[in-house]
Amino acid sequence: MKFWGVRGSIPSPGPETARYGGNTPCVEIRIGEELALFDLGTGARGLGDAVARPVEGHIFISHYHYDHLQGLPFFAPIFDSRSRFIVRGPTRDGRTVKDVISSQMQQPFFPVTAEMVFRAQLDYQPFAAGDIARIGEGVVTAIETNHPGGNLAYRIENRGKSIVYATDTEHGTQRDSQLLDFARDADLFIYDAMYTEDEYLGRAGSSKIGWGHSTFETAVKVADEARVGTLVLFHHDPTRNDDAMDELVRKVKKLRKETVAAKEGLVIKL
Ligand SMILES: [Zn+2]
Ligand SMILES: [Zn+2]
Repeated sequence: MKFWGVRGSIPSPGPETARYGGNTPCVEIRIGEELALFDLGTGARGLGDAVARPVEGHIFISHYHYDHLQGLPFFAPIFDSRSRFIVRGPTRDGRTVKDVISSQMQQPFFPVTAEMVFRAQLDYQPFAAGDIARIGEGVVTAIETNHPGGNLAYRIENRGKSIVYATDTEHGTQRDSQLLDFARDADLFIYDAMYTEDEYLGRAGSSKIGWGHSTFETAVKVADEARVGTLVLFHHDPTRNDDAMDELVRKVKKLRKETVAAKEGLVIKL
């Protein structure tokens, strides 16, 4: 797998964030010969420019907040008639993944519609908790996490290896035990570690309770309880610069050695 965007909520470009990266979520996972992308945040632009054409792949959207979809209109392979994608995402308030993407790509938000300019063959498939997508020999499943408007966490299994992509989730509800079961024994556990506990509870700055995100302390707890292999801190706060990220990683590694922070360009092979 390769990380193309790791930042939460809003892009945070600039020299202060250059090492970890300022693009919003986009994760590439190769399942055997198959290409699967998880979220199309602004990191999707770099991926789209780098990938060999034509592209055949699977796109999974966790939810439709800007930071997870904003790279779509700049994802070059989608304008290439030789490319083909199955685009999966949750249905929200009766609106399917196709409806949501169509409504984002229109005036006055964007100058042209998806129907006008997307040339790739697109097969939109609503995806929900409990559904199964078979990709090559691999399997992708999902659960709902605790996030305003909903969010799907995905589990990817292939040849005895597993990755859980659990971005945008707030701890402290009964959904936690579902996530614990869902993440059980995963080799890689990518988790929303946007805040520190102090930030979350309002001991440093204003309280973030109810904003839909979690903390590195919870990340460690869930990772340990679910007995995952490597914990990957993800959805970094846009205000956390590289030095602060280094500091955070040092702290977390004292609690759990098998932890890394997601960085743009980071490749993990299982
Ligand atoms: Zn987000
Ligand atoms: Zn969100």
